Amino acid sequence: MTTTTINTKNPLLSAWNTRHGIPPFELINAAHFKPGFEVALADHRRELAAIGGNPAAATFENTVAAFDKSGRAFKRIEMVFSNLTASETSPALQNVEREMAAPLAAHDNAIYTDAALFARIDQLVTTRQTLALDAEQLRLLERIHLDFVRAGAKLAPSAKQRYGEVMEQLATLNTRFSQNTLADESEFHLILRSAEELAGLPPFVLAASKQAALERGMSEGHVITLSRSHITPFLTFSSRRDLREKAFKAWLTRGEFHEGEFHEDESARDNKLVAVEIMTLRLEQARLHGYDNYADYALADTMAGNPAAVLELLNNVWTRASARARIEAQDLQDTARACGDDISIAPWDWFYYAEKVRKARYDFDEASVKPYFSLERITEAAFDCANRLFGISFKELPDVRAYHPDVKTYEVTDRTGNLTAIFLHDNFARATKRGGAWMSAYRSQSRTGDGDSAIVPIIVNNNNLAKGAPGEPTLLSYDDARTLFHEFGHGLHGMMSNVRYERLAGTSVLRDFVELPSQLFEHWLSEEDVLKKHARHYQTNDVIPDELIGKMRLARIFNQGFDAATFCASGLLDIKLHMKTNMDGLDLAEFEKTELAAINLPPQITMRHRLPHFMHLFASAGYASQYYVYLWAEVLDADAYDAFKEAGNPFDEATAQRLLKFIYSSGGTMQPMSAYQAFRGRAPTVEPMLRKKGLVEA
Ligand SMILES: [Zn+2]
Repeated sequence: MTTTTINTKNPLLSAWNTRHGIPPFELINAAHFKPGFEVALADHRRELAAIGGNPAAATFENTVAAFDKSGRAFKRIEMVFSNLTASETSPALQNVEREMAAPLAAHDNAIYTDAALFARIDQLVTTRQTLALDAEQLRLLERIHLDFVRAGAKLAPSAKQRYGEVMEQLATLNTRFSQNTLADESEFHLILRSAEELAGLPPFVLAASKQAALERGMSEGHVITLSRSHITPFLTFSSRRDLREKAFKAWLTRGEFHEGEFHEDESARDNKLVAVEIMTLRLEQARLHGYDNYADYALADTMAGNPAAVLELLNNVWTRASARARIEAQDLQDTARACGDDISIAPWDWFYYAEKVRKARYDFDEASVKPYFSLERITEAAFDCANRLFGISFKELPDVRAYHPDVKTYEVTDRTGNLTAIFLHDNFARATKRGGAWMSAYRSQSRTGDGDSAIVPIIVNNNNLAKGAPGEPTLLSYDDARTLFHEFGHGLHGMMSNVRYERLAGTSVLRDFVELPSQLFEHWLSEEDVLKKHARHYQTNDVIPDELIGKMRLARIFNQGFDAATFCASGLLDIKLHMKTNMDGLDLAEFEKTELAAINLPPQITMRHRLPHFMHLFASAGYASQYYVYLWAEVLDADAYDAFKEAGNPFDEATAQRLLKFIYSSGGTMQPMSAYQAFRGRAPTVEPMLRKKGLVEA
């Protein structure tokens, strides 16, 4: 077959004359991607070369707007590809994924190291005040410029070479750190042989540990591994304190060199040393960019803006959370005593006695809740909340077959009936889908289509729900329902996007802002009004009883001191480590010990992630000095929801309109703090989050 015949038959390279331009999934197969990418990548490179080599002087239109609009054919393929590899993969697709990883990374790198292109963008930034740009254009110019700068475009040629070396070494060390952690997790296993050693374990733990034993070729006995789904239930239910201690200590020391082990190269196997190498290189990376320390560099492009703001939040929450954790610890101590256990609560006792407290005080039977939470009802509830807030309506397109028969496709229209978005809802677990829940796009919103026409976004939500038996509804736990609302919140951020330029569309916002629309949307699920309207028994249509709603509410503040304190301890050490301006003689164990003593960590708890296995920080740079973002987003969502409480109505029209204008539809067109203040009328405060967690009096 010649290339031409492949190309003419390749649906990835043809126009999509489908309804709303939804990808022609039934025509696309794995073999189309590699040749499709080859053509589209070459086209994109030509487009970029034309922008960079344009003999005319740089203007916003011929450089920045042109850059934003470039590579549409490539992005169209890339989006289908990355979505299918996550939602409906196959060995053939996985092969393409491995083959394309390097060329796709190289393509990205080539863009951001293109000197001719950057020179034009840089010149426009220097003269931006004279260009008569509107606010969104100015923001686009600055964002794109920053993308280049943070990728090293501004460095002198000699520094550029060193920068490349640093980044390459970091990538190797990140992988080593991650593999060491995984090796420790897979090497350890606690073998349980007798009934005494299995004491307290419920059937589901017994089944999983039996399965783990079988997988290791053991026909008898049970095995507890260090995977989270094993270790947490074991610590929660095993009444054998000595075994809990053994398992917990193995869990706690993952990534460290263990006494008595033999390794050819000890320095490669001990993550304490790997992390020091990473920190040394990160400091150099930050210095090359002109920053004093890595935290300054990483936080310059966040809503928090600088390490001081992060420290202030973490310290504030730490003070309250650690105080609450001490009260909770006393509670556990009393429970232990009441059980006749003469012990002092240690970290390996926490889960065990916390479970006893939970059962005694906050227990509600999941099985009694589920009949009120059918997938159909909860989806309807999410659509109804979006309708009451933003006036949009969802209409299913039953004749559109997406990439799997279980995926539902919807047209989303505004009050006047105009098409706003296409929404794909892919709810069920299957072997071809990765775990977890997420939102993604097949097409981003913009108003830079042909002749500046509007491009309507195609948004997808993935969940991993266990499908009900044939003819039976799929029933959700409260957590499942909350996850569905969470992803739908991200989905709305993509669907309601109303910007001109694609780089600024929907969820293209800063990391410590992106969870606001999703976490905020979860609040509506717990509104009494919403529950009473939609949480109805799938057989009787009865409204969920008040007693169940009350129990679900109470359960939310259980163990929050422990949760927040273990989180903050990790967050504080992350930011303090990345604020260091000198890594000479850094001893990670010593650093951890000193800092934990300085914050006075209660002896009954530990950091949620200790540094030698803190994958968020060292498996990649993704969350380095940014572990705080989870807490930051919680501050924002609790404070934002209070705006509706203050208005006295969870669907207050004026508040909802501001929410739409400044948060859900504005994408990255505004500085996140300005966007937030425009919505709320003031900066966020931390109190609503503290109240929500029960860390201050309501
Ligand atoms: Zn999220």
